[in-house]
Amino acid sequence: MTSPSDFDCQTCGACCSYSSDWPRFSTESDADLDLLPARFVAANEQGMRCEGERCSALAGRVGSHTSCLVYDIRPDVCRACLPGDEACLIARRAFGMSAPAFVP
Ligand code: SF4
Ligand code: SF4
Repeated sequence: MTSPSDFDCQTCGACCSYSSDWPRFSTESDADLDLLPARFVAANEQGMRCEGERCSALAGRVGSHTSCLVYDIRPDVCRACLPGDEACLIARRAFGMSAPAFVP
């Protein structure tokens, strides 16, 4: 049994690179969305801009060291994805990572 604290998102980044359909805007207010730098927003303004399947706001290398460049103002769907949940595990498996992130 794993818990969210078993996962280290800063050595992962899989869920931010799994699908361009994932970082979609949903329940954010217009004021919240206005805070996002335009370079990270998709042309249709429906979600984060992605390069391939990877969110443009993800910095670093997946599976090694990653960070979200808009962490404090990230979309609600990103806040809803919890380490160890189903989406997390799907994304991690796609990148060949089992759970938890730092099994010795
Ligand atoms: S896939 Fe899971 S462990 Fe990896 S960054 Fe996303 S929430 Fe964190
Ligand atoms: S906004 Fe941040 S948390 Fe959300 S998908 Fe992009 S890099 Fe990941």
